[in-house]
Amino acid sequence: MALPRFAATSYEFTEYVSARNWIGGTWREAIGQPASQPVPNPRWGRPMSIVQLSGKVDVDAAVAAARSALPAWRDLAVRDRAQILYKAREILLRDLVELSWLVSHENGKLYSEAEAEVLKAIECLEFGCSLPNLTAGGRLEVSRGVTCETAYEALGVVAGVVPFNFPIMVPMWMIPQALAGGNAFLLKPSERVPLTTMRLAESFAEAGLPPGIFSLVQGGKEAVEALCDHPGVKALAFVGSTRVARAVYARSCAAGKRALCLGGAKNHLILVPDADPEVAVENIVASFTGCAGQRCMAASVLLAVGPAVDIEPLLERVAARAAGIRLGSEMGPVATAAAAERITRAIGNAETLGARVIVDGRGRFPEDNDHDGWWVGPTILDHVDPASEAGCEEIFGPVLSIIRVQTLDDALRIENANPYGNAATVYTTSGDVARRVRTMAEAGMCGVNVGVPVPREPFGFGGWNDSCFGHGNITGWDGYRFWTRQRKITAKWAAQRDSDWMS
Ligand code: NAD
Repeated sequence: MALPRFAATSYEFTEYVSARNWIGGTWREAIGQPASQPVPNPRWGRPMSIVQLSGKVDVDAAVAAARSALPAWRDLAVRDRAQILYKAREILLRDLVELSWLVSHENGKLYSEAEAEVLKAIECLEFGCSLPNLTAGGRLEVSRGVTCETAYEALGVVAGVVPFNFPIMVPMWMIPQALAGGNAFLLKPSERVPLTTMRLAESFAEAGLPPGIFSLVQGGKEAVEALCDHPGVKALAFVGSTRVARAVYARSCAAGKRALCLGGAKNHLILVPDADPEVAVENIVASFTGCAGQRCMAASVLLAVGPAVDIEPLLERVAARAAGIRLGSEMGPVATAAAAERITRAIGNAETLGARVIVDGRGRFPEDNDHDGWWVGPTILDHVDPASEAGCEEIFGPVLSIIRVQTLDDALRIENANPYGNAATVYTTSGDVARRVRTMAEAGMCGVNVGVPVPREPFGFGGWNDSCFGHGNITGWDGYRFWTRQRKITAKWAAQRDSDWMS
């Protein structure tokens, strides 16, 4: 029942076995809700597999298998648990090409983007490998003969729910810290991209992870709600849209769980006239077109600061570069037919409200072949109203909305008024301008001349405001803190000669 190994070296259409649950170290049919849905290949617009949709009974089975495996795993030293992560890292590197094609096929992103994603997932795993060196708790003699110390301990069975846009990287934001911390992890992949994580489950098993310590529960809303409600799931991390993040956070907290739920975004790039064109132009275009704009850190609004005479030459170069992007080889498709329709509709709405479509991606398809999937080319809207859909709502496609402002303060006011808070970037050669943006933007992740300011390991990833419900970052040390609880131990072994308050 394992996924067939394949040596695809192209975007040719490939069909896969159906996506099942991985519970207790075996592939199992979903029994809770015998329904399934197609897994589309966005480049071809055709199903490449089907995914089974699990329900409460399947979640119950996964939690039961995880619980019985947990004690032996939790009792290992963190160093021994990390050894398995090291082996998994070797396996993922060995299978880099195959994994990258899997990501590319089910998500639609370019092979080069998929390979970069897998490598970033491996970087997250390396942070997990390093945890034995980071997790020594503190210890102090607080009064004569009396010590206090802290230790990080597993929470138990924990869960992660992830979106479609990074089939392996986002799961790896969670899994290494959770496993190194001694937990058993249940993953609910996106029903649109369930296949890469099936290969991941097999990789962990090959690395020696005991059955039950990593499980896959395939499905959608019903499976997620069962995970939120299950009393045996002690913590849940979620990454996806803000609407669902908010609901999952409320539901998990109501069930008494620890929860951290990352949501959507509307990221602002601030372009000032002193920006270096050689840095800014390519970077802006890469930010809003990379992964066809389907990144929570993608540029969405370009706040063009200053008089038109100063800023126009930069904007013209951005438009020319974006218009020259070749679909199929330089940019992939969007995820679904519904996504293509939604993005196209949003462009039309902006035009109706007075925006100028200076680069139009509607109706564009790859020129060099007959890929008949779901395509929208890079699109730039100019003179966008900040209060309109294109000015303040997440579109999640390759669309850049230009808003013209006179001053940096005007730009920051618009950025600050947006309810999301993932990323904000400034393009400038002035240290003072950079300082003002990085201290005043309402964004958890700021960039200076970096259009996708994703913190690399060991720095934590996490937004603010409507981009994150719960406390802390999901990666780095905060991630380890999220998946563990801290025990405080006070001990007195020495015989007391004098009396004090501890006697
Ligand atoms: P989504 O919210 O539709 O789905 C995310 C997960 O939630 C999936 O596993 C899905 O099965 C599940 N789900 C969907 N509807 C649900 C419901 N009603 N109740 C319970 N669970 C439900 O998101 P998506 O379309 O897969 O991903 C795109 C979104 O994710 C964008 O908004 C993007 O900004 C966001 N995202 C955020 C980050 C971040 O770090 N903040 C990272 C990646 C993606």
